[in-house]
Amino acid sequence: MFRCRSFATLIIINLNPDVNRVSVSSEKDYLSLLDRLYSKVPEKAKKQGIQALPELNIFNVGNMTIVKNFGEYCDRLRRDLKVCTKYLLKELAAPGTIENNGQLTIQGKFSSQVINTLMERFIHSYVQCMTCKSIDTVLKMDKKVWIISCLACGAQTPVKPL
Ligand SMILES: [Zn+2]
Repeated sequence: MFRCRSFATLIIINLNPDVNRVSVSSEKDYLSLLDRLYSKVPEKAKKQGIQALPELNIFNVGNMTIVKNFGEYCDRLRRDLKVCTKYLLKELAAPGTIENNGQLTIQGKFSSQVINTLMERFIHSYVQCMTCKSIDTVLKMDKKVWIISCLACGAQTPVKPL
């Protein structure tokens, strides 16, 4: 009885310093991550060509990443939610599911920066008109070729299949 209790006390004493050290270092990591994120903010000024695009609402819950307004975002891009989801999950190499309300749940912890960067790449490759840079375009398939058709200037740009 006495030996058991002293064994338990020993474990607590041994564990505590480690627990403290882990929480301090992860707080530092978190702060440096925030710093890095804020240093990227001015880059947004470059994206003025991307008109009235809702900001993605991204957050982590446990080991999952939720993109709350993914459906709304894809609607604005005039792209099928399934097509956007397929692209994003393939790039992340992670499984995920779409809810009826357009929320995307990804298995795995990804930062909002990673998701935003991938969606910018998607816009660059599959949304933005190469001629006038408008994102008011539609993606259509014509004889097995994907074409970005611009609603602003009428340009037709073939793209590689998704
Ligand atoms: Zn155009």
